[in-house]
This record gives sequence, C-alpha cells and structure tokens, in this order.
Amino acid sequence: MVDDELIKILACPLDKAPVKLEGDRIVCSRCGRRYPVRDGIPVMLIDEAELPA
Ligand SMILES: [Zn+2]
Repeated sequence: MVDDELIKILACPLDKAPVKLEGDRIVCSRCGRRYPVRDGIPVMLIDEAELPA
C-alpha cells in the first residue's frame, strides 16, 4: 500500500504532472503513463512506465 502523502509529492518524471494511485499503479494525470509499485515503493522511471492504451 502506497501512502497518500507520498502520492501527493510525486510527479511524472516526463511532464511533472501530478499522479494518482490506481490499483497497484501510479498513473500520470497528464500523459497517462502508468508507473509500477514494487514492495510499496513507486518506481517513477520513464523506462519502467507502461504507455496508455
Ligand atoms: Zn506524465
């Protein structure tokens, strides 16, 4: 489980937009990239992101 306060300070590394938690993924509000969470740690790396459909 990822902490709400942590989500608030995170931003998409690509466009610096705010992100939100969706299931077990961190989703960018602008570009829609989905970042994985591993062991409760958001992996905010462009190379690790899934592109939106
Ligand atoms: Zn983004």
